[in-house]
Amino acid sequence: MARYIFVTGGVVSSLGKGLSSASLAYLLQSRGYKVRIRKLDPYLNVDPGTMSPFQHGEVFVTDDGAETDLDLGHYERFSGVTAKKSDNITTGKIYNDVLRKERKGNYLGKTVQVIPHITDRIKEFIKKDSSSEDFVICEIGGIVGDIESLPFIEAIRQFSNEIGKKNTLFIHLTLVPYLKSSDEIKTKPTQHSVKELRSIGVQPDIIICRSERSIPLEHRKKISLFCNVDIKNVIETVDVKTIYEAPISFFNEKLDLQVLNYFKLKSKRPINLNPWKKITKTILQTKRYVNIAIIGKYVELKDAYKSLDEALTHGGIQNNLKVNLVRIDSEKLKINEIKSKLKNISGILIPGGFGKRGTQGKIEAIKYARKNKIPFLGICYGMQMAIIEFARNELKLKKATSSEFDKKGLSIIGLIDEWTKDGKIIKGTDKNLGGTMRLGSYEAKLKENSMIRKIYGKKVIKERHRHRYEVNINFKDKFEKKGMIFSGLSPDGTLPEIIELENHPWFIGVQFHPEFKSRPLAPHPLFSSFIKASKNHK
Ligand code: GLN
Repeated sequence: MARYIFVTGGVVSSLGKGLSSASLAYLLQSRGYKVRIRKLDPYLNVDPGTMSPFQHGEVFVTDDGAETDLDLGHYERFSGVTAKKSDNITTGKIYNDVLRKERKGNYLGKTVQVIPHITDRIKEFIKKDSSSEDFVICEIGGIVGDIESLPFIEAIRQFSNEIGKKNTLFIHLTLVPYLKSSDEIKTKPTQHSVKELRSIGVQPDIIICRSERSIPLEHRKKISLFCNVDIKNVIETVDVKTIYEAPISFFNEKLDLQVLNYFKLKSKRPINLNPWKKITKTILQTKRYVNIAIIGKYVELKDAYKSLDEALTHGGIQNNLKVNLVRIDSEKLKINEIKSKLKNISGILIPGGFGKRGTQGKIEAIKYARKNKIPFLGICYGMQMAIIEFARNELKLKKATSSEFDKKGLSIIGLIDEWTKDGKIIKGTDKNLGGTMRLGSYEAKLKENSMIRKIYGKKVIKERHRHRYEVNINFKDKFEKKGMIFSGLSPDGTLPEIIELENHPWFIGVQFHPEFKSRPLAPHPLFSSFIKASKNHK
């Protein structure tokens, strides 16, 4: 049976619960154990798919087509384990299920209540699909004390009672602030947070203390005493210079060892931290760099393109380079400023996006990259914009557009209602916006002698999608005659998946999101190649 590790947060949010969980997963795996990581989110959206990136950062997409919290991206990148639909639940999803059951009369006349019906459903999700794992790490979103997270904490309390304390471990991550004015480290917020957690029945077994500076022993002792936790299990995590240092830092603090001790388990094999050490060294010591412009609508929020930023960094690691991300707001990008704003840029990337705002800036930037032979990567919406730019300026189809933002023009990009996957017809569009896009992993066939085929070194690839609109295949010949090649198509040949330009050193657009599959220990070939081309352009 799997052992369950629950990770809660206290004092403030954004302390790095996701990164801590992901690092722990890596360490346990590296010691020879099989691990899954899950996220339980307390908000009422059924999934984050309908949320703006300004609200909650990037929406991460899994192979099996779930729109999930961006922490699942951390989990995949650090642990190497591909996340599934069943790895992210929200309060909205739980209530949705329970209410649907209620309408069907499945509760046989009972009063439906938070305890036990909501908590039971949460427990089912925690256990689901995890019988072959050694460990399931469950991160609870938000912080202890939030009204919204109460049913989750109650559910994990019950869960621990049911499967036994020896099979469950509670980790609480808190902030231990340093006060500059009095030159002091303060443990009181941690004490209060643990008190709050204990008042709802959960005694943490391990406390991870996030701090700006190392926590002296006497302060650790205080936390141990007041919070009723063994001193060995008061673990500090001091701010790291790069996230890739996190597994090394938690190893040094013996987090994984304390977890194994708790469960009375031994390491199955020696741990290997060399890959992380190598990456950290590259990131921190390399002086060489390239400037890559990301031109999008959500550039003001750092987490809005999380996987993309990471994938570009991975591409840099592969090329022994630092990647400087220059974020440019497409809405504010004026045509007459393009040249000056892109002066020191070696590669231009247009990420995924939705809606009309900012499209003109993107189209102009693409034209600039195409004409000036600057390496260009267009992702999803970025590829669609590259198609529109080429149609307008090279095919002279001035009305070329996408029906997403112009219903009257010539829809080279248009809405489709159904498509095929593994030979089956999928019906996507209905009146709902949530969960109705082309989502998850789909195959694409790569054209012989194309640049993309050389980059991937494969004939068929599988990448993750998240979009509603598609490029109209009927325009293929027109584009190809002018030098824009449709170098990747869906297996049935109906959906353009990749475009590239002849007579350009590196100009590629992809309908999918390659960034979701890039990992620091296995950088994605498309990003490695894009960074290499940008390095050569410099
Ligand atoms: N808005 C576009 C579509 O739905 C592109 C989506 C995206 O970039 N993820 O097709």
